[in-house]
Amino acid sequence: MQTSPEEDRKTLAGRIRRNLGWRWRRLRKAVLRRLAFRRLRREAEPVAVTDRSAVVFAPHQDDETLGCGGLIATKCRLGAPITVVFLTDGGACSLDETTPEQRAEISAMRRQEALRALDALGMQADDVVFLDLPDGELTGFGDAERQAAVGKIEAVLQRVAPQEVFLPFRNDFHPDHQATHRLVKAATAGSARPFELWNYFVWSLWESSCLDVLSARERSRLVRIELPSAERGKKQAALAAYRSQYEPDPTRRLILLPDGFLRFFSSPLEYFLRESGA
Ligand SMILES: [Zn+2]
Repeated sequence: MQTSPEEDRKTLAGRIRRNLGWRWRRLRKAVLRRLAFRRLRREAEPVAVTDRSAVVFAPHQDDETLGCGGLIATKCRLGAPITVVFLTDGGACSLDETTPEQRAEISAMRRQEALRALDALGMQADDVVFLDLPDGELTGFGDAERQAAVGKIEAVLQRVAPQEVFLPFRNDFHPDHQATHRLVKAATAGSARPFELWNYFVWSLWESSCLDVLSARERSRLVRIELPSAERGKKQAALAAYRSQYEPDPTRRLILLPDGFLRFFSSPLEYFLRESGA
């Protein structure tokens, strides 16, 4: 259908306006992210990584490396017993409708990537646990499913008996991350063991307005670790193992991490919020 020159101009003007609006929002977000990151750096107390035993709970295959890959690598070097637990099967990262078989294929691929990433950080495959809960659905659990998930987390905690438990920050933007926080908290609350809880940050560093919910008391409990170059290199190698999350796949359309995301998470700093303990 032919459009009049005036309509074309309108469309072109509209397109330019939309494009400029999008660029402006992206730039504004990047500036706010930088400022929030600088504030964290100012407020967070530098701490040394210890050889205390730990369990890291990750909603998806890559969150453990993005949020605390340097910490995991350092603990491995120090000989600390460490276990990584993935809550979901990672199968919901497709832009297209998927059959159960295709979803299982994606899960299997992400599982292999996770094992390669954790190997790069210095971990043994035996210390990696996949709970295989449905990706993208943790917030939709009914009572019975929720209880079953909490039971699985409790079983890992009982078997491994860690001194430190790492979980995503309660407002970590992605619903599965927030649900993981709640499920792990429910599992640790019922335990008689004195776990030290460390929240790590992934999407809340990228969508930095998520950090606005931090209270003054919480801000006083922020800590940071600075990665030595060897551990930083291991973290970068582990991030590179998650190829499906950043490299377009010619055979299927998967949701990719935003531009600049991996560079941002290759920072030599990792931040944590300590909820309890010494
Ligand atoms: Zn995630």
